Amino acid sequence: MKTKECPGCAMDVDKDADVCPICGYEFPKQSLSLQIAVWVFIALMLFWILF
Ligand SMILES: [Zn+2]
Repeated sequence: MKTKECPGCAMDVDKDADVCPICGYEFPKQSLSLQIAVWVFIALMLFWILF
């Protein structure tokens, strides 16, 4: 199992965890925000093409 270090309590937690099970720190979802940015860009391009 891959782990990452929690910036809140400096413990190793599950790499896929959204929230630290020890201190409750919420990890930022960088990949999700990147997906949203890509979809917004696609939507803007469609809007530009259609109108
Ligand atoms: Zn923690």
